[in-house]
Amino acid sequence: MKTKIGVQFRKTNKTQHTFERLKYCKNCHSYSILWNEECTICDKEETLVPIKTISLAITRRNVQTRFLWIGLFACLSAIFADTTEKLLLACGGGLLLFLLFGLMQKQYGIYEKEYHFKKHLKAEQRNIKDSLLRQLDEIDADVQEKRIKDAYEKIREVGYFLDSDLIKILKLKYLNHFVLRKDMDLELDTLIPSDYNKHFILYLHEALKVQPWLVNRAVLEYVIKYMPYIEQRENGNQILGQVAGASLRVKANVYRYQDFIIEVIDFLPKERVLRLAKIVKSEQEYDWTNLYEATKKHVDQHYAFDPDFKGVL
Ligand SMILES: [Zn+2]
Repeated sequence: MKTKIGVQFRKTNKTQHTFERLKYCKNCHSYSILWNEECTICDKEETLVPIKTISLAITRRNVQTRFLWIGLFACLSAIFADTTEKLLLACGGGLLLFLLFGLMQKQYGIYEKEYHFKKHLKAEQRNIKDSLLRQLDEIDADVQEKRIKDAYEKIREVGYFLDSDLIKILKLKYLNHFVLRKDMDLELDTLIPSDYNKHFILYLHEALKVQPWLVNRAVLEYVIKYMPYIEQRENGNQILGQVAGASLRVKANVYRYQDFIIEVIDFLPKERVLRLAKIVKSEQEYDWTNLYEATKKHVDQHYAFDPDFKGVL
């Protein structure tokens, strides 16, 4: 068995949109998705700017150009005005256009910014993709040099952009090198692969030991779907009991997945059986006759003389 290492992960920033994570190097025109202050391609410092800044500059330039055109139009009208009335009309018209355009900009400018941002992303698609691929090479080099923590932190950033089985499985492989703790910012349902994968099951087992609340419907659906594979593992039954035990945190899940719970009830630890017994006894609004019967039978068989179960069912 591999020796696991204790680590403290670097904090990862949360952004409203994934692409806001990108930084653009003004010197070599590449993109970076990491936390570095300096560009990893040209090694220049203070050249990285958030991608939003670039698209905002484009929007600003467009708006300024339109204001200039209005100004030019007003000036030409004033130059060619041959009477005071026409001159006043040209100046008044120009001023009115300025005001109207200013108001429109205030009202709808946000849509223009979004439009330019999306347009900019589309134009830079290739460049951004190259940066992500370069990142994967860097991660590969980290793994070769046994810098697994660096590799995981980098693949976690790549994962915000690429949602594929390859990225998920790499993340899982790296995560399985670490000692998982309660205070870590762990993910689970975002790592579910499209097929049965032993690295995921291994991680699931370790993650649930410290953060059982990570079990949700997606995780339960996956485990139920691949139950025959999990059962074949050395500690498969223990994992199934662990998942079913964790599902007891949400009553709606107990109701929804009661067939699964009945199926693996023999693998639930005592403390989880006690919790299950209390749930099926107290929550009468749910129709779980079969689950109640199965729980009662299990308690009668295994905990008939256990004082903790006295009077529970
Ligand atoms: Zn650069």
